[in-house]
Amino acid sequence: MKRKVPIEPLPKGLSIFDSHCHLHFGDHYSEDLDEVINRARRYGVTRMVTIGIDCEDSEKAVAVAESYDNLFATVGVHPHDVAGMSKSHYLSLERLAQRPKVVAIGEIGLDFYRNLSPREDQERHFVGQLNMARDLKKPVVIHCRDAHPELQRLMREHRAHEVGGIIHCFSGSPDDAQVYLEMGFYISVAGPITYPKAELLRRSVAKVPINRLLVETDAPFLSPQPVRGKRNEPAWVVATFVALCRLKGVSLQEGATQLSTNLKGVLGV
Ligand SMILES: [Zn+2]
Ligand SMILES: [Zn+2]
Repeated sequence: MKRKVPIEPLPKGLSIFDSHCHLHFGDHYSEDLDEVINRARRYGVTRMVTIGIDCEDSEKAVAVAESYDNLFATVGVHPHDVAGMSKSHYLSLERLAQRPKVVAIGEIGLDFYRNLSPREDQERHFVGQLNMARDLKKPVVIHCRDAHPELQRLMREHRAHEVGGIIHCFSGSPDDAQVYLEMGFYISVAGPITYPKAELLRRSVAKVPINRLLVETDAPFLSPQPVRGKRNEPAWVVATFVALCRLKGVSLQEGATQLSTNLKGVLGV
């Protein structure tokens, strides 16, 4: 039986990236990681960043990044997992961050939607890891759900503009986007921009200048509309990229060139 592939590869010669995926996560890709990475390349997705969510997971992220060309890693503790984070966790992240394939600290942030860790732990370890990133001279990858006012306050108080980085899977209002842009951050757009009901999100993203935008999958989660409900993977970032180019009124060629410049600007890859 022929498998229907609803997302088309990018035209030859164009190259984009997935700024945020979890390729080393659980057993989602344990059977077919080579195939997933080859498919991404065939689709024009030539660079991928696999994101750590706790210390052990960050170690896996670095190990898998070290096994493939143009696969990079971040190390950090997700707001869901910060309860119980201690000095020794910071030391192990600092040590891991020295490895050459590590391009940022993350994902760090606040998640007041699920509140899997107490809010005060989330706030303390967001600030702790932001300061660690500053010391290490690395940008941060920020996760924020239902916590934009608190996040912006902490970012202001702790001079996040000196650190820089990415607001991943952006879900805020146009005003939220404006605050992050003023602090020098990049806005990364994920699959939800392709969902029929995401009119509000599209309105926010439409206002972000193209020289501050990135695309991501957050794979294995958040599959774009054509593959919604199935496992996500870096190749499918093409659907998000095409939707973004359409929204911004740029050609795929212009979009690919500008977004690649953006990724280089923030992560250096
Ligand atoms: Zn996240
Ligand atoms: Zn993520």
